[in-house]
Amino acid sequence: MSGGLKNFINSFFLIELFKGMALTGRHFLSRNITVQFPEEKTPQSPRFRGLHALRRYDNGEERCIACKLCEAVCPAMAITIESDQRDDGSRRTTRYDIDLTKCIFCGFCEESCPVDSIVETHIFEYHGEKRGDLYFTKDMLLAVGDRYESEIAQRKAADAPYR
Ligand code: SF4
Ligand code: SF4
Repeated sequence: MSGGLKNFINSFFLIELFKGMALTGRHFLSRNITVQFPEEKTPQSPRFRGLHALRRYDNGEERCIACKLCEAVCPAMAITIESDQRDDGSRRTTRYDIDLTKCIFCGFCEESCPVDSIVETHIFEYHGEKRGDLYFTKDMLLAVGDRYESEIAQRKAADAPYR
């Protein structure tokens, strides 16, 4: 049968329409998989890469030692670090900024950090309303870490056996 004749028969007998209706009919009574976000949420991997945070040790000391590995590895050049020596002789950042409008959420910064300081949390419900809202400074990143430390630690522990 030629292509033209086949097309004519298909359109005359509405074959494509019935195929579409058959597909709709097959799914009509099957289990509904639509998730009613934000009331319902899909499961999330412990490795989910969301909003960044800087963590502290239990004694309140910031983990970051200003080694700048995360800054060096970041493919988007989204991280800016400046550092100085403290009075106690330790090296700490004086500036740690992440421009989340540049970030591609690759997770390289977290992978490169030797002290588990910079992490990507499970938080994905955040937004900015004006230019600069998504430019996260050290204080903002530490505040995220302080607020969600227990969840971050739980997720790290859940992922640890697979590393
Ligand atoms: S997740 Fe990737 S792109 Fe974003 S700050 Fe970290 S290294 Fe850079
Ligand atoms: S966050 Fe980690 S990798 Fe980045 S400068 Fe601090 S210690 Fe180094």
